[in-house]
Amino acid sequence: MAAGSAIQIPTRLPLLLTHESVLLPGSTMRTSVDSPRNMQLVRSRLLKGTSLRSTIIGVIPNTSDPTSDCDDLPNLHRIGTAALAVQVVGSNWPKPHYTLLVTGLCRFQILQLLKEKPYPVAEVQQLDRLEQFTNGHKSEEELGELSEQFYKYAVQLVEMLDMSVPAVAKLRRLLDNLPREALPDILTSIIRTTNQEKLQILDAVRLEERFKMTIPLLVRQIEGLKLLQKTRKSKQDDDKRVVAIRPNRRISHGSITEDEEEEEDHDDVVMLEKKIRTSSMSEQALKVCLKEIKRLKKMPQSMPEYALTRNYLELMVELPWNKSTKDRLEIRAARIVLDNDHYAMEKLKKRVLEYLAVRQLKNNLKGPILCFVGPPGVGKTSVGRSIAKTLGREFHRIALGGVCDQSDIRGHRRTYVGSMPGRIINGLKTVGVNNPVFLLDEVDKLAKSLQGDPAAALLEVLDPEQNHSFTDHYLNVAFDLSQVLFIATANTTATIPPALLDRMEVIQVPGYTQEEKIEIAHRHLIPKQLEQHGLTPQQIQIPQVTTLGIITRYTREAGVRALDRKLGAICRAVAVKVAEGQHKEAKPDRAEVGEGEDCKEHITEDAKPESISDTADLALPPEMPILIDLHALKDILGPPMYDMEVSERLSQPGVAIGLAWTPLGGEIMFVEASRMDGEGQLTLTGQLGDVMKESAHLAISWLRSNAKRFQLTNASGSFDLLDNTDIHLHFPAGAVTKDGPSAGVTIVTCLASLFSGRLVCSDVAMTGEITLRGLVLPVGGIKDKVLAAHRAGLKRIIIPQRNEKDLEEIAAHVRQDLTFVLAGCLDEVLNAAFDGGFAVKARLEHLNSKL
Ligand code: ADP
Repeated sequence: MAAGSAIQIPTRLPLLLTHESVLLPGSTMRTSVDSPRNMQLVRSRLLKGTSLRSTIIGVIPNTSDPTSDCDDLPNLHRIGTAALAVQVVGSNWPKPHYTLLVTGLCRFQILQLLKEKPYPVAEVQQLDRLEQFTNGHKSEEELGELSEQFYKYAVQLVEMLDMSVPAVAKLRRLLDNLPREALPDILTSIIRTTNQEKLQILDAVRLEERFKMTIPLLVRQIEGLKLLQKTRKSKQDDDKRVVAIRPNRRISHGSITEDEEEEEDHDDVVMLEKKIRTSSMSEQALKVCLKEIKRLKKMPQSMPEYALTRNYLELMVELPWNKSTKDRLEIRAARIVLDNDHYAMEKLKKRVLEYLAVRQLKNNLKGPILCFVGPPGVGKTSVGRSIAKTLGREFHRIALGGVCDQSDIRGHRRTYVGSMPGRIINGLKTVGVNNPVFLLDEVDKLAKSLQGDPAAALLEVLDPEQNHSFTDHYLNVAFDLSQVLFIATANTTATIPPALLDRMEVIQVPGYTQEEKIEIAHRHLIPKQLEQHGLTPQQIQIPQVTTLGIITRYTREAGVRALDRKLGAICRAVAVKVAEGQHKEAKPDRAEVGEGEDCKEHITEDAKPESISDTADLALPPEMPILIDLHALKDILGPPMYDMEVSERLSQPGVAIGLAWTPLGGEIMFVEASRMDGEGQLTLTGQLGDVMKESAHLAISWLRSNAKRFQLTNASGSFDLLDNTDIHLHFPAGAVTKDGPSAGVTIVTCLASLFSGRLVCSDVAMTGEITLRGLVLPVGGIKDKVLAAHRAGLKRIIIPQRNEKDLEEIAAHVRQDLTFVLAGCLDEVLNAAFDGGFAVKARLEHLNSKL
């Protein structure tokens, strides 16, 4: 290698004065620059310069730059390191400064200071030969025995470190590849040395001297490491000695805290390994865990993957691989539990008992998944809970509403930051057994998105053929779900993906009648609310009339959830009264528990209307029990939210009441129509779906073609109903989307009323699909619709003839209150909807009015 090829640093170098650290050739250092001279150097030389040469500066150690600009330059250390400025980062906080990243190239000696301001520049002489760094090895004999010895120590030191860490492996390779002259400088900057020692190495210009000075430093580090490893080993051998060893280590090594932490962590890993080995996980899982723990042991804790792997292993240990509760299934007991917990719901209870009976006889869980479908608040979730109770199993509810990512079910792969297991595995971890009852709530509200289809993931979970080896992406090993009992709930089957629906047995849970609600309130809801509010029946009494009042005037729902909330509001109000009463009570003339009965009787006998919010007589404790009558109800819940006066809205022609089915139960729906001068256009409002719009067109077409027969005319007396006339049809509750064919008969009735000028009977509601020929076709949801009409106090209901069979499902007492008209064609509908029939009379009346 030719001497001429050696790289030369410039003979004039700008000088950076550092105080806290020493830069050695071959190493890199980050230093903060804030003194005026150094700042000037960075600004006018490094930031302005364009050539590579302008990034070379001289770093002079052990020389603090005075903070003031005018101060004289201090004595400079004689030897410095020429360095390449690799990066400059500026910041204004907390004061203006730069952070410089510099890499040392070679030593130099200051020959003469050329200028001091704005930053010092000196003429320098290069001391190390730079080609050594770039052109590989020098011949062995030149280096001598000293360098060989040094090399051996260096290798010994590096091999004591953990070779699985990439940086250590790289250092090991560098030892062989770098020229040996470079090693003292590089190793000195890596091992633990003081600044003073580094300065001595910098000053050791002669190579031999440098080797001689570094060897003791290496030996010291090796000894330190040996001691550390020894203490660690003995610690692993005997956990009990932990306490004894620590004080020794405190003396033996300087960096105690870091090491101690590391050690503690190591303990945890050992414990974790023990737990893994003693846990009952599957063979496959055990294999994966042992592999992971091996990796964990080699990983430095600071690596992000360390925490990930640890979390993973902890989850694996916690999962109930083999832990289960013992089923205690006895059908008679199950029947009692179900009956005790729930009133009515006969069909549902019967089906659940059948299901459990099969389970008892067959003793395995393969079979369709039960899916309860019905409006909110009808007790679907609570039946699920009762099933778990009868079986003596743990219960866990998984809410699926709005879930649109399949990793919600199946977990994220562990390569993602923040990855976690899916809800199924999480649920198992929560309950801690592998045979819980999982309630998959709201399966009809699963959504699809770019992140995959969660319904598809659920298929695997629910399929008894597949779920014994369910693989969560996070776990990445199979988990047996076959012991889990899945129950699903939904408001409607329409939005459940067909493949999922196929695996489930749907059990409809219809809404309740008023009478059922009253029973549920008095048997279940009120006792539960009293308990929750710390009240006793001796303190509050809610008669059935009040409950009926709440049901009819303050709620309009198929289930009992709002009713439950209102009862809660009443209990809260009473609790305040009772608490205040107890506080005010001067003398203990409080009704004793034994006297409670008499007291109650007394109050109910002369039920004088007492206002709950009457604060005037607070000085006296309220009389127990506090009776909640309709008057008190108004005080607590405010004015009634719903009135029963349907007839008021039917005081004009062009209004009819239809019956609609929604996932929340049945509802009554007013259809309004009006006409005005125009060009024969039909306007529809109220967020209607396509099918409903078509029903409106059908209705108009049928009425136009039958206008003569019914003597229907437009404003100018023409039988062409749309001649110079626009029609507007509106379905109130405009914010709710409506669709379906069942409003057909209602639209016809409403328009017939508009064009005939006659009022539709105020107590009639109707449902049914129509055809162009005037036939009435059957529709669904009859039971819910009838219950809604009954709730609203209507008396007569027109339904399609072919829906007659559905009436059997309706409770006898509801049927008694209502008159059903079974219509096969629209003529029959119109005859039933108008007082005294429609066809014949209408013609006469109309003719009369024309005459
Ligand atoms: P869903 O899951 O159908 O929306 P929930 O199961 O949450 O409804 O029921 C709401 C509340 O109504 C629960 O407190 C439940 O106990 C009560 N409930 C509903 N139906 C009945 C019933 N038939 N008998 C007793 N309580 C009932």
